[in-house]
Amino acid sequence: MCAPDRGSRGDLSVVGGGAVGLTCALAAVDSGWRVRVYDAGPTTRAAHVAGGMLGCFAEGHPGEDRLLAISRDSVARWPALIERLGDPTIATAADSLLIGATAADMEHLRAQVRFLLSEEPDDADRLPAVTPADLRAAEPALVRGIAGGFRAIGEGSVDNRKLIAGLQRALDAAGAARIDAHVDDLADVPGDQVLVAAGLGTRTLLPGVELRGEKGEILRLRRTRFSVPPPAHVIRARWHGRPAYLVPREDGIVLGATQYEAYDAADRAPLAGGVSDLLADAGEMMPSLRTYELAEVSAGIRPSSPDGVPIVERVDERVVVAAGHGRNGIALSPWTAHIVTELLSPDTASSTHQRSRSLTWN
Ligand SMILES: Cc1cc2nc3c(=O)[nH]c(=O)nc-3n(C[C@H](O)[C@H](O)[C@H](O)COP(=O)(O)OP(=O)(O)OC[C@H]3O[C@@H](n4cnc5c(N)ncnc54)[C@H](O)[C@@H]3O)c2cc1C
Repeated sequence: MCAPDRGSRGDLSVVGGGAVGLTCALAAVDSGWRVRVYDAGPTTRAAHVAGGMLGCFAEGHPGEDRLLAISRDSVARWPALIERLGDPTIATAADSLLIGATAADMEHLRAQVRFLLSEEPDDADRLPAVTPADLRAAEPALVRGIAGGFRAIGEGSVDNRKLIAGLQRALDAAGAARIDAHVDDLADVPGDQVLVAAGLGTRTLLPGVELRGEKGEILRLRRTRFSVPPPAHVIRARWHGRPAYLVPREDGIVLGATQYEAYDAADRAPLAGGVSDLLADAGEMMPSLRTYELAEVSAGIRPSSPDGVPIVERVDERVVVAAGHGRNGIALSPWTAHIVTELLSPDTASSTHQRSRSLTWN
């Protein structure tokens, strides 16, 4: 099939250059839009601090069946996106190990897997149970005595910062314009169509979009010459009742993350308590990490919708919104780009009622 002529569909402005905005912008360029991306920079960008896990099974919790279906769809689209970006090193792991420290942690994991398989029994092959010996064979640096776990096959990770750089490069190469600017009013933005994908900033531009901020501390550890190599899998632990994860990078790991309600959207200061909990859990889980350097301590705010399902909808004849991706915005970017491309197509663009929930636009 031939690619459509660039610009043949019209002019699209994208407000927001995070994971969601850039992935949607690239899909729009590839489907024939002439695209401009406006972005206020990385300081408030959740995608800058994120772990980069392409979570699906590990993010599937009872009551979140809609989110699980979206995640399954999106994770399946990731190989094509990596190929489009032409840099396989953006992907940092292909599979995850879901591990439980104690019998009680394992019971929690088993309940989660029961839910997942009740939604999709065919997934059993992609979620095999693993013994403590299997875990140590897969990741020899894991501490002895872990109760057990599951392997989540095909649930990998990306380097979030390489991803953003790769998307920017691909957009530049495809002739899209990227403008470093904070947009205060959508009326100031040119274009036949406007996509608002500004993370938490979306609620200022579109007050009808209800978003909560969920803050989280996250750390970056760098391997030294005295350290064992980083794990080859994403390791997602239920560790004495607390969630914790290790996400491989070329030079170390990302260790995350805490999660709690952010009462001040400008507050991205990491709290000492969160940082010390993460270090304590990681040091127990994989004692050799104690020889890694603590390269970066940060905190970010996840832009979350009230029910956890992203808000990807047409607002009016000119504006589409893609926001509220919460803890999974990187993983869900390819699915979002697919839906946004459909919403921008001439048939749906003329309808003002493509809404999956009741929002008041004003
Ligand atoms: C600690 C932590 C760990 C996470 N780990 C993961 C993970 O492992 N996997 C995963 O899938 N997700 C993870 N997330 C969630 C993920 O980061 C977000 O869901 C995702 O980044 C949302 O993407 P976005 O593009 O909507 O928003 P953002 O990434 O926040 O980007 C929004 C962009 O819009 C710009 N902007 C805002 N307002 C304006 C304006 N008025 N004008 C112009 N530009 C504007 C900002 O500058 C920013 O660049 C994590 C988040 C946190 C905080």
